[in-house]
Amino acid sequence: MTGVAQTGIAQTGIALIGGRLVDGCGGPPVDDAAVLIDGEHVTWTGRAADALIPDGYRRIDTTGHSMLPGLVDAHAHVAAVMCGAELQTQDSSAFSSFFIDQFLRFGVTAVRDTGSPDTGPEFQLLREGRRDWPRFVGSGPNLDGAPGGPWPGLRVVDDPQLGRGAVRELAAQGVDFVKTYVWMPPATLAAVVDAAHAAGLPVAAHAGHILTADEAVRLGVDALEHVRIGPELLSEEKREALKALRTRDYDWLFDFRAWRFADLASAETDRLIQLLLDRRTFLTPTLSVARAVLMGDDEAITGPPGIGALPDDVREQWHAESFTLDWEAEDFGWGRIELQRQMEFVGLAAGAGVRVVAGTDTPNPFVLPGQSMHDELELLVGSGLTPMQAIVAGTSQAADLLGLADRIGTVRPGYYADLLIVRGDPVSHISATRSVALVLKSGQVVFTAPKSR
Ligand SMILES: [Zn+2]
Repeated sequence: MTGVAQTGIAQTGIALIGGRLVDGCGGPPVDDAAVLIDGEHVTWTGRAADALIPDGYRRIDTTGHSMLPGLVDAHAHVAAVMCGAELQTQDSSAFSSFFIDQFLRFGVTAVRDTGSPDTGPEFQLLREGRRDWPRFVGSGPNLDGAPGGPWPGLRVVDDPQLGRGAVRELAAQGVDFVKTYVWMPPATLAAVVDAAHAAGLPVAAHAGHILTADEAVRLGVDALEHVRIGPELLSEEKREALKALRTRDYDWLFDFRAWRFADLASAETDRLIQLLLDRRTFLTPTLSVARAVLMGDDEAITGPPGIGALPDDVREQWHAESFTLDWEAEDFGWGRIELQRQMEFVGLAAGAGVRVVAGTDTPNPFVLPGQSMHDELELLVGSGLTPMQAIVAGTSQAADLLGLADRIGTVRPGYYADLLIVRGDPVSHISATRSVALVLKSGQVVFTAPKSR
């Protein structure tokens, strides 16, 4: 890739010329394309031969590259790191700037924050946005029933009245959606959903412990986080077998054991998928974190490339806080099957038209900021999505979940010029998204890969 050197003069525009354009909405790619950018927005896309490039535009040759919308990590915990509540390290300000830099560097130009300790200064700053940060949409603190997850700031609201009050407070503090957690009882969830919708806020649930995902959807949640689906797919007999299993420390959080017993060819599976379709529920499977848990005995998973860039104490913390410290070899043996089955479910759901979205759950143990988004896209393809469907899940579909479908997630006139330029063709091989060459946000180049020889 070659680019005309940037002058000190204010830029009038940018023309990306020659690459393959992938619009993020699943439309056919356009070869030898051009994208024209003026200020913060895309103004024109089409075949390069038809482009009228105004004088003074900075021309960037993207031949041999693909031009995609910037990726959206639809499940992350960024504000918690920025305010120092997550991942303690000696030099926390250096670490938080390293952490947030990883998103743009890996082509992730927007994040959906699914839980932070508060809606304080860091949260507000992230929402306001900065040139060198990804766009940010956040829930603030999760709402939960008693006893409540142990995360900083999580609010226990154990009756419908308290639930409604908490939603109104969060709405006043400027959250973009409401996130409920694993101990939330049905009556409170119903009240939370009602109050949130009245305030114009969607509700996302990490269900699957007190409530099945299917019950949460029936109570009106708009989005499911993780694939905490299971008992609702099982016969009475298999549910009893599930209940008889040994209890482990973090089963309340990440219990995927129902997948051991699940039959994906069953009428129950079809019914659940139909429910997700009927309700237009978003499903953010966060397969990256599921894999980090279920294959936590595999050093390739707990030591991914790039982990060396993290401070020693953060890596140590990840090992110390792993969710599988009390697991036995047998648990990990089943873990592979549980991962496989939830991926099959995701493939079936996406194939049927369920709105599957890519999200990682960084910075949970071994889920690296930015980089893990590319793991997630590969895992979605491993689940049976086409590379194009995975790209849609990580761009336009995710933008829709963030409530930004009219501004980001596609490369189209009038949209923010948030773009990821990669070497090669991710529509043929999804792993090409890893070969990040250039990242633009709001029409500005925010990352350029060092020249490789
Ligand atoms: Zn999470």
